[in-house]
Amino acid sequence: MRTCLTSIVFFIAATTWVANTSTAEETFVEVNERFTQATNRTFKAFDPQHEQTWQRPFFFMQLADTQYGMFTGNKGFEQEVALAQQAVEHINRLRPRFVIVCGDLTNATPDHPRYQAQVAQYQQDFSQVDAEIPLVCVCGNHDIGNRPTPTSIASYRKNFGDDYFSFWVGGVCNIVLNSSVLKDPTGAPEVLAAQQAWLERQLRDATSAKAKHILLFQHHPLFLAKENEPDQYFNIPLERRTPLLDQLEQADVRAVFAGHYHRNAYGRAGAMEMITTGPVGRPLGKDPSGFRIVTVYETEIQHKYYGMADVPDNIGLNESIDVQ
Ligand SMILES: [Zn+2]
Repeated sequence: MRTCLTSIVFFIAATTWVANTSTAEETFVEVNERFTQATNRTFKAFDPQHEQTWQRPFFFMQLADTQYGMFTGNKGFEQEVALAQQAVEHINRLRPRFVIVCGDLTNATPDHPRYQAQVAQYQQDFSQVDAEIPLVCVCGNHDIGNRPTPTSIASYRKNFGDDYFSFWVGGVCNIVLNSSVLKDPTGAPEVLAAQQAWLERQLRDATSAKAKHILLFQHHPLFLAKENEPDQYFNIPLERRTPLLDQLEQADVRAVFAGHYHRNAYGRAGAMEMITTGPVGRPLGKDPSGFRIVTVYETEIQHKYYGMADVPDNIGLNESIDVQ
């Protein structure tokens, strides 16, 4: 969602928030390390050598748009906290191989007075995820601004680590992009250029390492339904979308996972799926707050979105799928 309403609540926000956040801020320093695992363009929790080899089917959980502060225009975040806590309960019960949160972690941008309180609460709530389950964070337009700059990206990196990076899990190459510079590169053209050169290398390396699947994660959907749909707020402009899709198709990328839309949407570009996932936080359509569970087999992936009230007790892996 746009940040255009944030200035309206600026003064209310600045004067009413201090009391409720002291606990969150006290724990900020000690939990911060968990949220800066994305460093040197990879994710520390995963051993790249070991994880490049296919092991066995697994599942992960894809979340998006926790967006602390959105329900109330940054006045508070009680509803986001309640939903995040439900998500964390599901995570700890289901025990996925990893969890990835595809951006708009907070509603406030780094230059907003409520930003640090929202970050602290996010980190407090998600530090409750079992320490054995890696939690991967992805930057969205609210995390670095609709027109990101080196300064806004640096603020994000201080709290959540790299804005683009890649990591292997059990034979699958996972690539995380900063999609806000794809959406609007005018404030940080050098970041987009560096990310582009880096992406080319990642795709080449994943192919030569014989990745079972290459999966891409970012905040903005490349498109919602059709690869050549007109430009609009929720997709990446065709000017940068079309060459990127060609590049991803050439590398045989299996799927792109995104958020930002606050609803689910699905499309395809050739064999590649474009999967847009509804929010943990405030929904903007009929899909309730929830998340996606993605099951990865050697030869295919399966995925399904669950509302918070409809999550199964456990996730069964169909071991027969990979038996040829
Ligand atoms: Zn967004």
